[in-house]
Amino acid sequence: MPELRKDPITGRWVIISTERRKRPTDFRLESVHVTPDSGCPFCEGHERMTPPEIIAFRRSGSAPNGPGWDLRVVPNQFPVLRVEGTLDRQGEGLFDKMNGIGAHEVIIESPRHEDTLATMSEAAVEQVLWAFRERVRDLKQDRRFRYIIIFKNHGAAAGASLDHPHSQLIALPIVPREVRDEVDGARSHFERKERCVFCDIVRQETADRRRLIFETADTVAVAPYAPRFPFETWILPKRHQASYEDAQRHDFASLARVLTEILRRMNRALRNPPYNLLIHSAPLAEDAGDYYHWHVEIIPKLTKVAGFEWATGFYVNPTSPEEAAQVLCDVRP
Ligand SMILES: [Zn+2]
Ligand SMILES: [Zn+2]
Ligand SMILES: [Zn+2]
Repeated sequence: MPELRKDPITGRWVIISTERRKRPTDFRLESVHVTPDSGCPFCEGHERMTPPEIIAFRRSGSAPNGPGWDLRVVPNQFPVLRVEGTLDRQGEGLFDKMNGIGAHEVIIESPRHEDTLATMSEAAVEQVLWAFRERVRDLKQDRRFRYIIIFKNHGAAAGASLDHPHSQLIALPIVPREVRDEVDGARSHFERKERCVFCDIVRQETADRRRLIFETADTVAVAPYAPRFPFETWILPKRHQASYEDAQRHDFASLARVLTEILRRMNRALRNPPYNLLIHSAPLAEDAGDYYHWHVEIIPKLTKVAGFEWATGFYVNPTSPEEAAQVLCDVRP
């Protein structure tokens, strides 16, 4: 019997379709293979192919915009939004518009083309997470921005145009709708129960353990109760914290530990799947500190979004989160 499940944060319903039940081997997997590229603009030695770096973690003595770095952040060459100008809201009767103010940056995670977050050392992944924090702390000074989203497309099927390991950051003059839904849902949970819904999820899932994938003292990875996609995984700090950029060194060390573990397990269980990764954090100019709770979402690209989902916003998921958690628990990275 298929099951309808409701996400406790957003109230979004999903269908867990046991009739169409899929085990890892049933998906038509498009494994990610990194191919060498002598013209890659992100490789060490090709620094002139990108706009000048915003920040870089450099080995001592190396000059900006040359070799000798572990990580670089550069403006996106083809930004979806532009940093120059003033925010100007206008409308045409019924329709609202504003000019495309924002920031679009690329975090080049390693000088080595064939690296991935799953194969890099935990210390190197921690550096990547730290770079995200540094960029958010800098950009949030800019009063035009209401939200900063950090995301990663891994593999062509997940939207990556370059194989070289990188993530992207976009600062927006509005709070995007997916985040709005979570923030509003978390606020209404708080108004009813005087507790953070994400803290409630952490408490229930670490006690119940059927959807728990991996945990450390500070961080937990779970298959959410009502996932839109097979093997969707959330990583949350166990301690309440609204904003990613407020996390401390030891939080990032713990997140790096859990993140690499999950990606390695997914690679084993799902044969190097393409995936999207995103960080949800509290909106910049809102006082959501009591009820929002930052987290990482990882969505392996195993299924296609089709007509029913587009038409309804109602997702059909062929793998139950209990089964996905079991598979990821059992596999050894
Ligand atoms: Zn490269
Ligand atoms: Zn919380
Ligand atoms: Zn989220």
